[in-house]
Amino acid sequence: MRFMSTRDPELSAGFADALSQGLAPDGGLYVPQVWPRLAPEAFGAAEDLAAVGTRLLEPFAAGDVLAASLGDILTEAFDFPAPVVALPRERLSILELFHGPTAAFKDFGARFLAASLGRLRRGASRPLTILVATSGDTGGAVAAAFHGRAGIEVGVLFPKGLVSPTQERQLTCWGGNVRSFAVRGTFDDCQRLVKQAFMDRGLRAGRELSSANSINLGRLLPQAVYYAAASLAIWRRHGEPASFIIPSGNLGNSVACVWARKAGLPIRDVLLAHNANRTVPDYLATGEWRPRPSIATLASAMDVGNPSNMERLRALYPRLDELRSAVSACTVDDAAIRERIRSGYRQMGQIWCPHTATAAEAYERLPEALRESRRWVLVATAHPAKFREIIEPLIGREVPVPESLARLFARPSAYQEIEAELASLARALEDRPA
Ligand SMILES: *Cc1c(COP(=O)(O)O)cnc(C)c1O
Repeated sequence: MRFMSTRDPELSAGFADALSQGLAPDGGLYVPQVWPRLAPEAFGAAEDLAAVGTRLLEPFAAGDVLAASLGDILTEAFDFPAPVVALPRERLSILELFHGPTAAFKDFGARFLAASLGRLRRGASRPLTILVATSGDTGGAVAAAFHGRAGIEVGVLFPKGLVSPTQERQLTCWGGNVRSFAVRGTFDDCQRLVKQAFMDRGLRAGRELSSANSINLGRLLPQAVYYAAASLAIWRRHGEPASFIIPSGNLGNSVACVWARKAGLPIRDVLLAHNANRTVPDYLATGEWRPRPSIATLASAMDVGNPSNMERLRALYPRLDELRSAVSACTVDDAAIRERIRSGYRQMGQIWCPHTATAAEAYERLPEALRESRRWVLVATAHPAKFREIIEPLIGREVPVPESLARLFARPSAYQEIEAELASLARALEDRPA
């Protein structure tokens, strides 16, 4: 299959090229040119993520250099589960996406991209440098996924002093082929530096540069796999389609769900739970697209004022009425997030991260008739232990730390401080560690 740019259907690339390039050359995002139709029966008895994923992604990778290794890539990348767990409410369950090495759903996409690029790079003559600007979960997931891979090095740029202590540890605990740069500036400075690095001939002369940005098809498409596996599990158990409530920011996770439905999986409603950054809910309500600067909230990984993947949703549903019947959206402010974390613990014995709490709140706000006529699945995007500072005072107890995170927190941390200018980044990149 070919993937075309959202801005020009004539501009297309195969699977491997699309995920090596990241963005299409015209600045658009890659989307599938055609859609497979996979009924639940097409999956046979496949249950685990690798088996379901191989069947789901086969048509997308058909004819590509990566087609033959798809099964191996998925087995390597998805070596942790994504369980659907029943909640103490009728017809409600939760899809836990936080069992990977950095305890957030971004591990799925980052690990799939790393396993794919690892194979594509075998025998390459020049080293590949992946630069990632991060203010939260992305940097940690990308660093973890590429750590120890031969022929690929990673530079993680984060704003010095502007990420939480827990986040900083995840960004700086790797060593080896992963280097962390604390930039004396803001997150926007980090992003600007990465963009400047891409345009700099000097830097590009000795190495290939790539980004592992969340708009990369190689991060987004594999996320459809857990929606496929979860909806199949519910279909087989109850004979009903699943409806998902997804904590959303840049819309990568939600577009993956919509794509899974488009490919034929038994998925009914898709509800986007946003925090106080309400660009998407406002758009669905008014029909006016008004991106704005992001606002800082407790669900910080969703602090996006201009969600890039809206371009993919609109490519699929160009008319507003189509889009409105494809997804709905709501906005949850910090006060409601706090209250939902408290009551989730009190009423259901659940400990939710602030992102997951937006989905739980969105569920409670549904009209009763709608709550009762669907099989709802809350999507849990991060483990609560990553947000202990916020959660513990609200629920009045310690949040247990999973073993994978504890291991990560125990590693020594190191970073190099740089100025918010390209020359400083270039010097740091040249100054290769032993
Ligand atoms: C990135 C992230 C989100 C938002 O996902 P998008 O794909 O950007 O919509 C939600 N929750 C957590 C924990 C995240 O890390």
